[in-house]
Amino acid sequence: MRIVYVNGEYLPENEARISIFDRGFLMADGVYEVTSVLDGKLIDYDGHAVRLNRSLEALEMRNPISKDDLLEVHRELVRVNEIDEGLIYLQITRGSDGDRDFVFPDPETTVPTIVLFTQAKPGLAENPVAERGIKVISIEDIRWGRRDIKTVQLLYPSMGKMMAKKAGCDDAWMVEDGCVTEGTSNNAYIVKGNKIITRALSHDILHGITRAAVMRFAKEAQMEVEERNFTIDEAKQADEAFVTSASAFVMPVVEIDGVALGSGKPGRVAPRLREIYLDEMRRVAV
Ligand code: PMP
Repeated sequence: MRIVYVNGEYLPENEARISIFDRGFLMADGVYEVTSVLDGKLIDYDGHAVRLNRSLEALEMRNPISKDDLLEVHRELVRVNEIDEGLIYLQITRGSDGDRDFVFPDPETTVPTIVLFTQAKPGLAENPVAERGIKVISIEDIRWGRRDIKTVQLLYPSMGKMMAKKAGCDDAWMVEDGCVTEGTSNNAYIVKGNKIITRALSHDILHGITRAAVMRFAKEAQMEVEERNFTIDEAKQADEAFVTSASAFVMPVVEIDGVALGSGKPGRVAPRLREIYLDEMRRVAV
């Protein structure tokens, strides 16, 4: 049984409790982060810690734990749960003041709820799916306008994954005004010639931690990166495509709405970037 962390305590998962009035539960009033673990170490931990604070600030929510303590909790959970490869999920909600009300509770008297748990995922890095690539469908992006805040409001992304599954595919790319915003749980890219094209950062998409690292590595490897909108039609004519996220790293996309990209197999760029990302991030993991 897993040991999880809830509001300052390490507990067996079946003994962990939060209130039925917690605003995370009632109103999706909470933010989260997912950090991957390779070789028992945290990948790009700082990036996730910085974005966590950004999300909290955007929602005027207090961080209930210090930077040092939060790192320690991550490490302790990896240790006690003996995670070699996997994920650490972290969620902070606005907590509970013992009732349901749209108005935020007084931050002086209502402490945020903090929960962390691990997910063992052997084979996260040597993932056979990355060898064959994933198939995506396109769906309309009907999410709210602050997708840059990493909230736990994940119903539509979850529905998007189900639509993909029903269509015999792996994931969905969301489209707004004809242009791809992002995947249900990842950032989206296309490759044309030597150029990597991905949507620029704004309120429209999550500012992926993996995206930032991958774009840095791509530039260092002399690849050209263009941050601009691209349409779903342009994507279907691309040489290659891929997605990035903390749990998928760099994952080739080989088909969009039934249209095979290039040879229908992972191309040159995405597998290379995956390799560079894993090598470089493993080296600096904490
Ligand atoms: N976009 C969305 C909508 C996501 O949910 C995620 C992953 N949580 C990402 C992009 C990728 O972000 P990261 O690389 O920080 O995991």
